[in-house]
Amino acid sequence: MIYADYNGSAPICEDVKEYFIKRLQDGPFANPNAIHRLGTKVLTAMENSRAICAKSLGAKYTQVIFNSGATEGITQVFHSVLDSAKEEGKNFVITSGIEHSAVINCAKFYENKGYTHKVVPTLPNGVIDLKQLTNWMEEFKGRIALVAIMAANNETGVIQPFEEIAKVCTDDSVPFLCDTTQFIGKCAFSFKESNIDYAVTSGHKFGALTGTGILLAKHPAKLHPLVIGGGQEKGIRGGTQNYLGYETLAVALNSFEKNGEKYLDLKEKKLKFEAEIKKRFPQVVILGEEAPRVCSTTYIAFPGIHGQAVQIELESADIFVTTSSACSDNEPVTSKVLRAMGVSDEVGRGVVRISLGHCSPLESYDEILEALTNAYEKLGKIKSY
Ligand code: PLP
Repeated sequence: MIYADYNGSAPICEDVKEYFIKRLQDGPFANPNAIHRLGTKVLTAMENSRAICAKSLGAKYTQVIFNSGATEGITQVFHSVLDSAKEEGKNFVITSGIEHSAVINCAKFYENKGYTHKVVPTLPNGVIDLKQLTNWMEEFKGRIALVAIMAANNETGVIQPFEEIAKVCTDDSVPFLCDTTQFIGKCAFSFKESNIDYAVTSGHKFGALTGTGILLAKHPAKLHPLVIGGGQEKGIRGGTQNYLGYETLAVALNSFEKNGEKYLDLKEKKLKFEAEIKKRFPQVVILGEEAPRVCSTTYIAFPGIHGQAVQIELESADIFVTTSSACSDNEPVTSKVLRAMGVSDEVGRGVVRISLGHCSPLESYDEILEALTNAYEKLGKIKSY
């Protein structure tokens, strides 16, 4: 079996599995906010995990807020920043057209509350148009409440110029929320060096337990709690902490650091796989190929063959990939990310996303190559559209 949907959710990584099984056997279990000895032990372990996460992500210990994942972090930043910005004359929100719906729907929510939502165009290579963003920063100077642009795209894996965006935003004192969900755990990241104001992540994208995440905030005091609760996480996120889950975040980030080199091997193997499949099928398109991408994502289309048909063929060979398409009446729709890149429906309907992770064996690409070749040969004879 080859699991190739890491961008959707990564399997729990081996180091985390080992740690967690022992942790469940050994305990202790208690409320980290309790004053008795067991509570203190649990708190110490959780705070130790926070320190490990901070170090791994190049952030200060106090900048790490544990939560349930990226969606929560994104929502909290939007609510915190936009709650009162309009009253201060800042009524523009800028995102890109390739953001995850967790960002897009927050922007729409505030559009309905009277904010103007500007969407930065995307170039055909999958990178946002930095020049247009810079122009808007100048044009709407003093009126921009928030810029929210991702670090790496979940479909194409294309890396965005987030450090340049952070610089432009910092120069203009505009808060910058960077959705780093698909970047952290795949690429080395330093919150401090990136100069981002807010970064988010979900543990299940890099081998930790699902339902855990981190919000990194340059100035945590500027955040309002989404869940008020009893003052946990220094009043920024109420509710008894999921300390067991947060411990796994530290273990998974450590595991990624330890296996960094393996990731580079994966990239090399991926590029060979992509070159070989294109040699076998010259009509194949690899989306975002021209741009820098995370090591382990291939977004590939055979124009005229439904991505879903390919996915089913691969699944019958026990290889699990996804398509991007929302499907109705057998009419797959080109994803909004691909539409933002100007990709035609002929290509857009054909995509499958193959995404691996640092725990994946390199030979996975050999098996995927053969299964994909079989699928394209079979389906090419009966083109679906
Ligand atoms: N942002 C990006 C880029 C993602 O890929 C995802 C998940 O797919 C999210 C945000 C939301 O993550 P979660 O559902 O874990 O909160």
